[in-house]
Amino acid sequence: MRLVILGGPGAGKGTQGRMLCENLGIPWIATGEIFRAAIESDTELGRQAAPYVEKGDLVPDPITIELIRHRLTQPDTENGWLLDGYPRTAFQAEELDFLLGDLGQELNWAIWLDAPVPVLMQRSLDRSRDDDAPEIIRRRIDLFHQRTIPITGYYKPRNKLLRIDGDRPSEVIQQDLLDKLAATQA
Ligand code: ADP
Repeated sequence: MRLVILGGPGAGKGTQGRMLCENLGIPWIATGEIFRAAIESDTELGRQAAPYVEKGDLVPDPITIELIRHRLTQPDTENGWLLDGYPRTAFQAEELDFLLGDLGQELNWAIWLDAPVPVLMQRSLDRSRDDDAPEIIRRRIDLFHQRTIPITGYYKPRNKLLRIDGDRPSEVIQQDLLDKLAATQA
């Protein structure tokens, strides 16, 4: 199964994405995690991404798109994958379709983990990461509305959007996801 998961900072993409990958036996590919690991180990990618990640800004498309292209041609991706944090803009969603076209693959679903802004804000504040200072969180939530929400308008007319209520306990959300994905495969 080939999936992307969309949601604001604190929507639970990481938690749900990771659980879903374990349940489905596919790799979890999270651009934010890849950037943070690269910054931590001070690689070339890390040095390029750091100024953006630290401010809560989007890493420029050429860097991000190349990262995804490279990652989706690794051998562990043959039976599917889940992308968390990519695409983040309608442009990246189109780029993903171009890439999948080149690879002869097709996306099954864009899962939209929907949660109200106060919930996003509170959950992000509850976990403390370097890029989780309140003003940076606010910036990421604003960017999510400006840049990422429009992606739902890209997937919806293509019948690829699966909206899930993210303001519920984690196990309930996961079960709902598994049920809905199973139903769409039947
Ligand atoms: P969030 O909790 O906001 O979903 P992520 O862990 O997905 O955060 O991403 C952390 C940071 O990594 C973002 O604020 C951004 O700087 C960078 N980043 C991650 N994915 C992308 C992407 N697809 N395009 C551009 N920048 C990205």
